[in-house]
Amino acid sequence: MTDLKVLVRNNILELIPYSSARDEYTGKDAILMDANESPFNSPYNRYPDPGQKLLKEKLSSMLGLLTEQLFIGNGSDEAIDLLFRVFCNPGTDRVIIMDPSYGMYRVCADINDVAVDFAELDPDFSLNAGRILDKAGPATKMVFLCSPNNPTSNLLDQSEIIKILEGFEGIVVVDEAYIDFAGGEGLISLLGKFTNLVILRTLSKAWAGAGIRLGMALGNPFLINLMGRVKYPYNVNMLTQDKALELIDNEAQKQEWVELLLSERHRLEKELKALRIVLKVHPSNANFLLVEVENPDTLYDSLAGGGVIVRNRSRETHCNGCLRITVGTKDENNRLIELLKSY
Ligand SMILES: *Cc1c(COP(=O)(O)O)cnc(C)c1O
Repeated sequence: MTDLKVLVRNNILELIPYSSARDEYTGKDAILMDANESPFNSPYNRYPDPGQKLLKEKLSSMLGLLTEQLFIGNGSDEAIDLLFRVFCNPGTDRVIIMDPSYGMYRVCADINDVAVDFAELDPDFSLNAGRILDKAGPATKMVFLCSPNNPTSNLLDQSEIIKILEGFEGIVVVDEAYIDFAGGEGLISLLGKFTNLVILRTLSKAWAGAGIRLGMALGNPFLINLMGRVKYPYNVNMLTQDKALELIDNEAQKQEWVELLLSERHRLEKELKALRIVLKVHPSNANFLLVEVENPDTLYDSLAGGGVIVRNRSRETHCNGCLRITVGTKDENNRLIELLKSY
């Protein structure tokens, strides 16, 4: 068991967080004269619930967790940034990021003045625990893993992740933004066993809620509590909390969307493989495909000229020639195929 306390920055351990008068009052129907809000334009005249009590109860029961194991933030981006601010002393601490992966980990590290050691995935994009553990030194506070990984679209091998959880003394962050497309439950069942595991989830992908900015970190209550103390008091606004409750109330709708996207992904994969210009479609566990083509730069431009924007990932490690294509609706996918056929 990792002793989380020794990993936390001293100033954060000693922090006295912001508190409002309403945090202390538990009665109902009070006249609210404590926060200098306007009495008009209800309910948006009031500050949102800083503890996101109702939403936290619903999300945690949906995930089979205690509310104390759940942090809710302004997108996963907020959770990533907060993890840096809780654990990494600027200018001295380091993190390990697998390569290639999601760009935000490095941006957050740079903003927080935390040095990054990149650990390459295998050429077939599998995770090698030994290569990660070899990079860890006394100043390494966190390892960032992403499963299914962006932009490579593959689920990481759970036994390799467990080797890292067991062999690394610091925090292991596993970003599961795309887990709903991969089948299975992800790593939630490991939370009870590993105090150093933090899982990131989001409403931005399968839940179709990127616009409302709602991300989550799942982890040990001690760590989740620290994130809650460091966050902006009102980090998730009232509109977002309300809309998130509405979205998660309809899990059947999400499931229907996921299944539609999976069936479109299978079709797209088949159609792409039949094209002369496509050299390889990497196997995907997500809602996008990493596709190797002959001339990624000119193809990218040509698609954009036809009104279809994809992501050029051809300069990422082990991704030579690759475009990343998000699965769209049937009509959108047809338009993409039509453009590729006429290229
Ligand atoms: C899209 C994505 C997210 C989602 O970030 P939000 O801030 O929650 O929208 C997180 N991680 C990865 C790897 C992603 O690709």
